[in-house]
Amino acid sequence: MTGCLRQYIQYFCGITVLLVACWSCSSKKKYAETNLIYQRQVEQIAEEIKSIPTNPTVKKLPDSASLLPDPRLEGQREEAEWVGTINFNMRRPNFIILHHTAQDSVQQTFRTFTLAHTEASAHYVIGKDGKIYQMLNDYLRAWHAGSGKWQGITDLNSISLGIELDNNGKAPYPDVQIQSLCTLLDSLCTNYKIPRANIIGHGDVSPSRKIDPDINFPWRKLAERGFGLWYDEQLFQAPPTFNPMDGLLILGYDIKRPDAAILAFKRHFLPEYPLDITWTDHALAVLYNLYLKCRDR
Ligand SMILES: [Zn+2]
Repeated sequence: MTGCLRQYIQYFCGITVLLVACWSCSSKKKYAETNLIYQRQVEQIAEEIKSIPTNPTVKKLPDSASLLPDPRLEGQREEAEWVGTINFNMRRPNFIILHHTAQDSVQQTFRTFTLAHTEASAHYVIGKDGKIYQMLNDYLRAWHAGSGKWQGITDLNSISLGIELDNNGKAPYPDVQIQSLCTLLDSLCTNYKIPRANIIGHGDVSPSRKIDPDINFPWRKLAERGFGLWYDEQLFQAPPTFNPMDGLLILGYDIKRPDAAILAFKRHFLPEYPLDITWTDHALAVLYNLYLKCRDR
């Protein structure tokens, strides 16, 4: 190697290191303020959890003993008393809800999730290049699911983790992104003992409002890796007495708006077929197969 070439390489490497350092520095700087606000909010929550009422009243007790004081018992009722137990730990998430960001870049998503007025957030964002970003501690409640219902549960934010995939809703999902998602799902399911069938889509829990992740999301590929519910290769015709709405209900769907529930089911399990509300024999056989898997859980 000539001295000139060596000098050129050293110069080039130096510039690259400098650029990367500047980028990471500016990225840290960019979110320094919201990172600080995050920390303060977590500290406030920690204080709230740590506090033990010195003179607990029924009204102030933070558990179910505080519910519905009966005015007829006024004067006869004793104040609730705090007796701390020593047997407890943190509540764990039991579902994972997947989303597509419907935006064009992770930077755009970070902006959305760090502005107060959007009132939206998620625990994780996965870039198209497979990079995983965490935005919130797993034990905290992100605002990703909004109003919805699944298996009769209405406060889905309280029991779930939210993962956003950087995708505008139309583009295919790169393999490297799905690979990272599977790695993350494996780790979360193991850490929190989340049943792998409890990995669902935003469109599943909010069929009247949401469609994400949309039909190009590879649910089948995920199921091959053991994540999410899927149907068997060999299907049997559903019996004539089988009511598809009962099937959707048993799977977990909110069937208050039947058409929306049918479309949500088809987007998830039958994306290669026309998206309409008619039941073909094949669609019924798929639903019946899934219904049998869920019926006795
Ligand atoms: Zn969503």
